[in-house]
Amino acid sequence: MFENLSERLGGVFDRLTKQGALSEDDVRTALREVRVALLEADVSLPVARNFVKRVQDKATGAAVTKSVTPGQQVVKIVHDELIRTLAGDDPEPGKLRIDQVPAPILMVGLQGSGKTTTTAKLARRLTERDKKRVLMASLDTNRPAAMEQLQILGRQIGVDTLPIVPGETPVQIARRAKTQASLGGYDVYMLDTAGRLHIDAELIAQAAEVRDVANPRETLLVVDGLTGQDAVNVATEFDDKIGVTGVVLTRMDGDGRGGAALSMREVTGKPIKFVGLGEKMDALETFEPERIAGRILG
Ligand code: GDP
Repeated sequence: MFENLSERLGGVFDRLTKQGALSEDDVRTALREVRVALLEADVSLPVARNFVKRVQDKATGAAVTKSVTPGQQVVKIVHDELIRTLAGDDPEPGKLRIDQVPAPILMVGLQGSGKTTTTAKLARRLTERDKKRVLMASLDTNRPAAMEQLQILGRQIGVDTLPIVPGETPVQIARRAKTQASLGGYDVYMLDTAGRLHIDAELIAQAAEVRDVANPRETLLVVDGLTGQDAVNVATEFDDKIGVTGVVLTRMDGDGRGGAALSMREVTGKPIKFVGLGEKMDALETFEPERIAGRILG
C-alpha cells in the first residue's frame, strides 16, 4: 500500500539536478516526502515537524558520494536520526534496575493495554533469562477476574503469584507482597496495578499510594502501540502524576507502522524497554530502535 521512502525520494531526486552536495532546495523538497511518510506511520504532527527540522539541519550541505544517490543519502540521514531519537540515552533497553533484593517493579497502564499479560511475560523473561525468582501480585481489587487472570498466567509460566485475600486494599496487597518477597527469598516482586478505561483521579491516587509503599526500582508503563497519539498522552499523564521509568509498547505485532514509538520517545523522553509482539507468553522482545526505524520508513 505504501511506497517506501527510498522509492519516493529516488523519484524526487531524479527530478532534481545532481550535485556533489545536497542543496537547501533539494533537501526541502525531499523532506516533504519524509514528513508524509512519518505522518502515514502515525507519528504525531508536531513530532514529525521537529524531526524533519533536525534532519534538514543535518542534511543541508551533506556530501553525496559517487556510491550513493542523493535520495539514498537523505534516507541514511533520516534513518540515523530516527535511531538516535528512538534509542535516546538508554544504553540497554532490555535491562531493568533490579539491583536490590527484593526489587519491586510497578506495572501501570490503562485497562486493555496488555498490562497483566505483559506482567506475566516479563516475569517469565526474568525467570528464564535472568534466573531471578519472581513473585507477581495483582492489585486490581475492583476486578476479581483480573486477579484470577494473573494467577492463571502464573501457573502457566511457572511463576509464583501472591495468594488472593478477599477484602484487601491495593496498598495492603502491596505490603503483603513486599513481606512475602522478603521472607520467601524472591529477587523481584511485580505489582500489577488496577487499570481503568481512562485515567481518572482515583486510578492515579491508588497507583501513587502503592508507589509510596513499594518504592519501586522500575515503574513500567504498558501502552497499546496501535493507539498513536493517545498512547503518548497517556504516557505524559502517567509520568507527570506517578513517574515512569520505562515504557512497554504492546500490539507491535499489529499492522501499525510504529510511529507511536517515535512520538513517545520525543514527547516523554522515557526509554522504551520492551515491545509486545502477540498474545503468547514468549511474545515480548527487547526494544530495538533499528527494527522500529525500518518499519516507520516502510
Ligand atoms: P490489561 O487489561 O491491560 O491487563 O490487558 P490484558 O493483559 O488483559 O490484555 C488484553 C488483551 O490484549 C488480551 O487478549 C491479551 O492477550 C492481548 N495482548 C496483550 N499484549 C499483546 C500484544 O503484544 N499483542 C497482541 N496481539 N495482543 C496482546
